[in-house]
Amino acid sequence: MPKHVPNKNKNFQKKQGKKTKKEMPKVITYRNGMTVADFADQVKQPVSDVIKKLMFLKVMASKNQALDRENSELLAMEYDLEFKDEVVTDVTRFEEIKEEDNPEDLVSRPAVVTIMGHVDHGKTTLLDTIRHSRVVSTEAGGITQHIGAYQVERNGKKITFIDTPGHAAFTEMRARGAKITDIVVLVVAADDGVMPQTREAIDHAKASECDIIVAVNKMDVPGANPDRVKQQLGDLGLLPEEWGGEIPYVEISALKNEGIDGLLETIQVVAEMQELKANPNREASGTVIEARLDKGRGPVATILVNNGTLRVQDYFAVGSTYGKVRAMSNDLGEQIKESKPGQAVEIIGLNDVPQAGDPFKVFDDEKTVRDIADERTDRVFDKQHAPKEAMSLEDFFNQASDETKKLALIIKADVQGSIEAFKGSINKITVEGSDIEIIGSGVGGVTDGDILLAEASNAIIIGFGVGVSGSVRALAKEKGVEIRTYRVIYEALDDIEAAMKGLLDPVFEEQVIGEAEVRETYSVSKVGTIAGCMVTSGVIKRNSLVKIVRNGKIVYEGKLGSLKRFKEDAKEVRQGFECGITIENYNDIKQGDMIEVSTMKEVE
Ligand code: GDP
Repeated sequence: MPKHVPNKNKNFQKKQGKKTKKEMPKVITYRNGMTVADFADQVKQPVSDVIKKLMFLKVMASKNQALDRENSELLAMEYDLEFKDEVVTDVTRFEEIKEEDNPEDLVSRPAVVTIMGHVDHGKTTLLDTIRHSRVVSTEAGGITQHIGAYQVERNGKKITFIDTPGHAAFTEMRARGAKITDIVVLVVAADDGVMPQTREAIDHAKASECDIIVAVNKMDVPGANPDRVKQQLGDLGLLPEEWGGEIPYVEISALKNEGIDGLLETIQVVAEMQELKANPNREASGTVIEARLDKGRGPVATILVNNGTLRVQDYFAVGSTYGKVRAMSNDLGEQIKESKPGQAVEIIGLNDVPQAGDPFKVFDDEKTVRDIADERTDRVFDKQHAPKEAMSLEDFFNQASDETKKLALIIKADVQGSIEAFKGSINKITVEGSDIEIIGSGVGGVTDGDILLAEASNAIIIGFGVGVSGSVRALAKEKGVEIRTYRVIYEALDDIEAAMKGLLDPVFEEQVIGEAEVRETYSVSKVGTIAGCMVTSGVIKRNSLVKIVRNGKIVYEGKLGSLKRFKEDAKEVRQGFECGITIENYNDIKQGDMIEVSTMKEVE
C-alpha cells in the first residue's frame, strides 16, 4: 500500500491553472491539411482541449488528423477567433494552393458519390446494379474494369461513383486532408433499420460537409418497414423531406433493380443544387483513389481529376513521387487521351506507388515535378523520424526534465463510486517532483475517443472492472497509448506511486513458445501419466507454464513437471522431435490433447 500523505496538492492545482492559460492569438490562419495538433499550436491551447471542443461539435479526431475548413471555422468560433485562409505560394505544397479560375472558364462537372451504410445492407449490390444498368449500352464488350471509381450517365449527365463502399477508406482519405466526395448515399436496409455502422456513417458524412441522400434498400423483402427507418434516422437528425426535413429518401431494391433511376435522379437534383463547377482549361489537379504495383506495368494509380484536363504526356507530382502520364484508361478499360474534371482514370508512368488520398497536380516539366517530389520526400522522412510522444507508466519516471514531471490519467470504471474513490486517494499521493492530473473520467468501457484523448495529452488510461475491446486495444497499440486495467483501486495506486518514484516493477506477459501434440500416454506408478508427444511448433522448455487444450478448450493450466528425450532429462525439445512430458499435479492427459507451453517475458 502507498503511504497516504495529507493532500498538499492544492498549490499545484493553482499553478496548473496558470500554466495552461497562455496568451491566445486573435486570428487563426487555416491551411489545407492542417492537423488538430497544428491548430492547437497556433491557438496556443492544449491539444486535448481542442479535441474536447471537437467532440462537443460531434467530430472525433486524433491529434494528427487533418481538420477540414468548416470544422476549423467552427473551432475558431468556439475560441472566438477571426478566421482566415492562408495564401500559399510554395509549389511544393501544391495541394494547398487555391486555384483561381475565371468564372467564364467554369463548366459544371459530375458529382462524386460515395456509398456508405451498415454491413450487409446492400452497398456492394447497389454499386453493382448501378454499374450494370449502363454497361449494356456500351460497346466495350460489357465488361467494366475495377479502377476504384466508375461513371454512369443519366439524361446526358454524368455521375461518378467511388467504387469502395464503406466509410473506412472515406475517413482514411479525409484524415489525410483529401475531400473528394460531394454526396453520400446512406444505404439502410428496410428490414433491419439503423445499425451501429449506420450511425458511424452519418457521423463521417456530416463531418465531411457532404450532402446525404438516404437509400432505403431491400424494399422487396416482406418485412420491409421504410417508415421505421425514417423515424430512426429522423431521431438522428436526418429528417426526411416529406416530413418537413431536408434529407431526400429514396426507396429501392438494389437486388431487384427497382427504384434505381429514382435514386440517380435524386443524386442529380442534389448535385444541381451544389452547382459543382470546374475549369477544364487548365492543367489537371486531383486525388489518388487507388494505387498498386502491377507486375507488368509498374506503379498504377487511379486519379480522380478534380479540376483541369489531364492528358497523356503530362508531367505530374503526386504525393511524394512524380511521373509522366504514359497511358491512361477509363473504367471501361478503354485507352483515352484526356480526362475531364469529375472523371476517374487509371494512369501509368509513375516512379513509385502513391497512397490513396495523395494529392496530384500537373506541372510544366520534369525538373519541377522531380524537385517537388524530392522536397516532399524529405518532409515525410522528417515527420516519420520525429520522436514519438506516446507515454507509458514506465516512461514516466524517465522523462528527461528538471521541471516537475506530470502524469496525465484518464479513468474509466464500471461504477461512478470507483472513480470517486480513486480520485480521492490519488490526491493523497505526493511524491516530490511529480504531479498527477486526471484529464478525463467516465463510467463504461474504454472507447476510441479515450484513446484519441490519451494520445493527444500523453495520458495513460486506467480502467477498473471495465473491458477493452480488441479494436480499441489495436487502436491503442497503433497510437502508442498505454491502457492498464485493475480489479482493485489500491493496486493501481501502488503502481502509480511506484512509477512516480521510478520503482515500477517490470510488467510480465505470458508468451507462448511452443506446442506439442499428445500421441500416446503411459501410466507409471509413482510418476503418474507420461505423455508421449511430438513438438509441432516452437520449442518446449523445462520449468515452463502449460495449458492443456482438448477440442479447442483449455482443460487444465499449470506447470510442466518433467521433460524427457529418450528417457534422459532434457532442457528443451524443438519442433519436429518427440519427447515425454509430465504435468505437475495432473494425470488426466489424453491422446490428441495439445500442450501449449509458455514463459513469462518482460514487456518492453
Ligand atoms: P454490403 O455489405 O452493404 O456491401 O451488402 P451486400 O451488397 O453484400 O448485400 C448483402 C446481402 O443483402 C446480399 O446477400 C445481397 O444479395 C442482399 N441484398 C442486397 N440488396 C438487396 C435487396 O434490395 N433486396 C434483397 N432481398 N436483398 C438484397
